[in-house]
Amino acid sequence: MQIELINVGTELMLGRVLNTHQQWLCRRLSDAGHLVTRQVAVADTGAEIQQAVREALGRVETVIVTGGLGPTSDDLTRQRLAELFGRTLHEDAATLARITEFFAARKRPMPAGTQVQALVPEGALVLANAFGTAPGLAIEIKPNPFQSAAGTAWLIMLPGPPRELRPMFTDSVMPLLRRISPGEIVFVCRTMRSIGIGESQAELRIARQLQPLVERGLELGYCARPGQVDVRLVARAAGAEILVQEAEAIVRERLGSHIYGVDDEEIEEVVVRLLLQRGGTLTLAESCTGGQVADRVTNVPGASAVFLGGFVTYSNAVKQTAVGVSAESLAQHGAVSEPVARAMAEGARRLTGADYALGITGIAGPSGGTPEKPVGTVFIALAGPEGTEAWKMFNPLDRLTFKELTAQQALNQLRLALEGR
Ligand code: ATP
Repeated sequence: MQIELINVGTELMLGRVLNTHQQWLCRRLSDAGHLVTRQVAVADTGAEIQQAVREALGRVETVIVTGGLGPTSDDLTRQRLAELFGRTLHEDAATLARITEFFAARKRPMPAGTQVQALVPEGALVLANAFGTAPGLAIEIKPNPFQSAAGTAWLIMLPGPPRELRPMFTDSVMPLLRRISPGEIVFVCRTMRSIGIGESQAELRIARQLQPLVERGLELGYCARPGQVDVRLVARAAGAEILVQEAEAIVRERLGSHIYGVDDEEIEEVVVRLLLQRGGTLTLAESCTGGQVADRVTNVPGASAVFLGGFVTYSNAVKQTAVGVSAESLAQHGAVSEPVARAMAEGARRLTGADYALGITGIAGPSGGTPEKPVGTVFIALAGPEGTEAWKMFNPLDRLTFKELTAQQALNQLRLALEGR
């Protein structure tokens, strides 16, 4: 089913709030096989909200509107959309009782104006709000006045706060959508996550081989992020799973060790899983990543079984005292050098007794670069049971992206070593 999403909120237009509803709802709707064909955000004015809904219902039969159902003067969604369809608002006794109970249970007086949230447009379904006061509303519009081939349309209104919207969507909207659009919807989406290869390069390697599958209905998409490219394989209708499986086999074959995971899998999850499988332990000596690798590894449940701990050795002095890098090595090669990265990894491994240790040193910038070692230069070393290896990288980016990419590259070198590549 085609769906349009309208996010209401002047705070969105002012850039004060990140529109997380857009991502959260689109993800759930597309996973359920629906096609979100358009999403817009509009300010909290009655005219904008009405115009957005009028336009959306001119294109599709199901429209979801979020925000503006609260009790304050800038919450206009309910009132203005009831007006648009000529529906009168009436006070719903059950909803008013729930709102009264909500305040009573919290031993708080019910603020004046709150009861406006119990107003329901004539004929609307009330979607219970388990975590707040404003209920959601769903109106069946029959016939749809904004399309000439007038079918039945649905307008679904949800409250703005994510902790209210999300359970309401799962508990009430999903069952309603299944009722509106019965029958099995086949939708398969697999994201192949690659690392260490650019977007164009990845496309060059796979696009021609995937073309016959695209002609059979495969939808192919690329999403580039620091250090990684996600290749999205989507298929709908009968045979979708087989089509995606065939595409996955081609992508795996053509991108080889660049593929590190599927769907939402992060590289640190893969690394922790591989260490668990092999019974290996890890330590870190991080300089320019400032502990980001440790942070990411410890985000993974079960990391304590493999991660012994790490050092953030930012200054030369701490590189010496914490992981035993020699003053001579620092003086001779500089803190950002392959010998120092190796010494950091080997020192951390020796001191903790871990099986693997990463040493990471680089110049994040914006200052500190030299002609031989410009801003963005990075050395990564991996000390392991078979000895120490090191790599030079060049990541001339802003500081935060530099850290993210460098951490990603370090984790990837460990992943490749653990996979025996
Ligand atoms: P309330 O009863 O809180 O007034 P409401 O239905 O009127 O609820 P809004 O006033 O539009 O909703 O938004 C309430 C809060 O919900 C906002 O301050 C914001 O923090 C959050 N919110 C609203 N829309 C979004 C969105 N699209 N993405 C993320 N958060 C949002």
